[in-house]
Amino acid sequence: MNFTLHLTADCNLCCHYCYLTHDKSRMTEKTAFAAVDLCCRYNQDKHGFSLFGGEPLLLAPVIERLTEYAAQKDKLFTYKMTTNGTLLNEDFLRLADKRRISIAMSHDGIIQDAKRKTRDGKGTFELLQSKIDMLLAHQPMAIAMQTVTTDTVSDMAESVRWLYERGFTRINTAIDYRTDAGWDDESMDKLKEQYQLIAELAQQTFFSNRPLRYLNFTSKITTHLLSRPCIQCKLGVRQPSIAPDGSIYPCNQFLNLPEYRMGDVYGGIDREKQMEIFNMGRKPIKSCIGCAIEERCRHACSCLNFQLTGRMDTVAPVQCAHERILIGCADDLGEKLHKMDAKKLMHMCGADAFDGIE
Ligand code: SF4
Ligand code: SF4
Ligand code: SF4
Repeated sequence: MNFTLHLTADCNLCCHYCYLTHDKSRMTEKTAFAAVDLCCRYNQDKHGFSLFGGEPLLLAPVIERLTEYAAQKDKLFTYKMTTNGTLLNEDFLRLADKRRISIAMSHDGIIQDAKRKTRDGKGTFELLQSKIDMLLAHQPMAIAMQTVTTDTVSDMAESVRWLYERGFTRINTAIDYRTDAGWDDESMDKLKEQYQLIAELAQQTFFSNRPLRYLNFTSKITTHLLSRPCIQCKLGVRQPSIAPDGSIYPCNQFLNLPEYRMGDVYGGIDREKQMEIFNMGRKPIKSCIGCAIEERCRHACSCLNFQLTGRMDTVAPVQCAHERILIGCADDLGEKLHKMDAKKLMHMCGADAFDGIE
């Protein structure tokens, strides 16, 4: 079992599409230590934490103390952290090297300034230039995380190209398809065109010494090549979320919803509640039964379903449409790359997918 540590909902930025409350709650060192103890109690060998916010680097001292405390446990801990990058510095990157914290930087490429601003409305593109260099010098395989909305979809491929040329080889795109995000047939067609352009870039760079590893595609190609299902959700068991106050919830979207609280870092996990929630997440999704790509689609993500439809067992039409487009584009690319060098493709996909902490 891995855990997501929601260190704070606070952030120094004010991104256009951010859905967080930005309340000032912050995890204390005491709670972070208790989370480490909890992790040791429930795990035999694998100990994984996803360090999440808001902006987790607002709590860099807590992260430092947490990882130091975990290191005393004589067990192997691994960490992932998603940051907006603005507070990255050499000290933290040295800590990340020492404690095996893999960092992903959120960056929207050429439209960064339009969507990802500081609280006083300034763009963050220029500020991040030196941070990108710093990050890639320490972690050349760091991931860039792009978010795309209906009004930026036309710049998606150009932004991926920019991120690639700027030094990132591993890039992921999150689609903002919340119910109010306005996706329709026209914007979905644009999305498909953009995926096709990114596929061209992946093909062009495949034999270079730094091939583009576009994670939206590699994850889907892997489900085909290795015949592994896209996700096995295991809600409440796979990767519970720990709130700043130490309360434990089944996953990100259920944070702070009292009816889904399943314990806290001090008293441990209420197993009965956990199993009740686990079973809720296992309900079959009627509209997906018999779908040819069921095993390769993210339809089983209870979080996403809950966020978009208010129900764990109901998939939003926009998500279904997106999965069909993505899998189609990934398969076209996968077929081409397979012909070019099947072994290289297998190696690339195997390294990128299913590495544990979400
Ligand atoms: S950096 Fe992340 S948490 Fe901060 S405002 Fe942007 S989307 Fe929200
Ligand atoms: S698939 Fe979705 S709900 Fe399930 S553990 Fe992963 S993020 Fe959470
Ligand atoms: S969400 Fe759509 S594409 Fe995915 S399994 Fe269900 S019916 Fe198939």
